Amino acid sequence: MKYLSFLLLLIAANANAQAIHYKSVLVDTHNDCITACIEKKVSLDQDLTGKNHSDLKRFKQGGVDYQLFSVWCDGERKNPYAWAMRSMDTLEAVAARNPDKIVIAKSWSAIQKALKENKIVAQYGVEGGHMIEDNIDRLDTFYKRGVRYMTLTWNNSPTWASSHADEKDPKYTGPRGLTAFGKEVIHRMNKLGIIVDISHVGETTFWDAIKTTTKPVIASHSNSYSICPVTRNLKDDQIIAVGKNGGVIHLNFYSAFVDSTFAKKDAAFRGRHQAELDSMLRTGIQREYAFSTLAEKYFTESEANKPDIEQLMKHLDHIVKLIGVDHVGIGSDFDGIDSAPKQLKTVLDYPKFTQALIARGYSDKDIRKILGENFLRVYRLNNPQ
Ligand SMILES: [Zn+2]
Repeated sequence: MKYLSFLLLLIAANANAQAIHYKSVLVDTHNDCITACIEKKVSLDQDLTGKNHSDLKRFKQGGVDYQLFSVWCDGERKNPYAWAMRSMDTLEAVAARNPDKIVIAKSWSAIQKALKENKIVAQYGVEGGHMIEDNIDRLDTFYKRGVRYMTLTWNNSPTWASSHADEKDPKYTGPRGLTAFGKEVIHRMNKLGIIVDISHVGETTFWDAIKTTTKPVIASHSNSYSICPVTRNLKDDQIIAVGKNGGVIHLNFYSAFVDSTFAKKDAAFRGRHQAELDSMLRTGIQREYAFSTLAEKYFTESEANKPDIEQLMKHLDHIVKLIGVDHVGIGSDFDGIDSAPKQLKTVLDYPKFTQALIARGYSDKDIRKILGENFLRVYRLNNPQ
């Protein structure tokens, strides 16, 4: 009898989690599936189960309502602006083929309409200021196409801002922090309604950006350095500054940014399969995709290295403790990462994130904020029209 009532309680709790999850507007501020689709020569409107973390159908099944799609290219690529355009063309073609499922929303009313019609709201986040190729007017074109945030730097630095990697690299000779042109870029972004994203930037750039922006910023996919000390995560004084700025830190699911013990365990795993990994890399595929393939092939081995979702929740609790529940959200980095906490394998697993929030005692109101309302607040402050 005791067992039965426990079981019924469990079923009721799960139904409650499902109800809150699917009723809330879920915004994810970072997904790399455009690049993954281009590299793997697949399309988002196909069933990509087993190939990608995301596809159009599974976004909906996982409860995603609003996706910021990352537009990415590394610092070595020639003509990064053209590459950014090509990435956007790719998603635009998907949206044109599936007008009943996904809309590239360019106004607040278009966002509201798409949410009401149960379509995925799609916008872009340009992941790296190098894609404007030092031409500030390209921000205008980006905005017109649906770009609503730009990560000032990726791991590489544009000529006007230093990245987290370069600020730590003794061989880096470029400017530290934002140059005068970098500050102009921020002013134009503020004016247009392109949110400033401080993920990936160096600490000097971070503080310059916080001082320069007149609007709330986001970290589109970053965690807490206190919980997992890697340079991609934010230190407590940075987190506090984002809180004061009114911004939102969106949690990254990448195992190495969640759990500081992961990198070592993962390196040992790759070492055990080095020859196989090397032969995959020789085909020219991106490292993350080679790592994913390896992890799928040796599932049990790689699974044992992954952190538990509880470890990700420690980041959330820490940020909430420092700056409150109004400043945290989700920026999974799905399709740009090769490992995430055990319970968060693909976009189908977002309900488990909500379940974890309920288990930690967050109220329905708090959950709605974390899942999407916090981002919507920042969006509106950057885009009042
Ligand atoms: Zn990134």
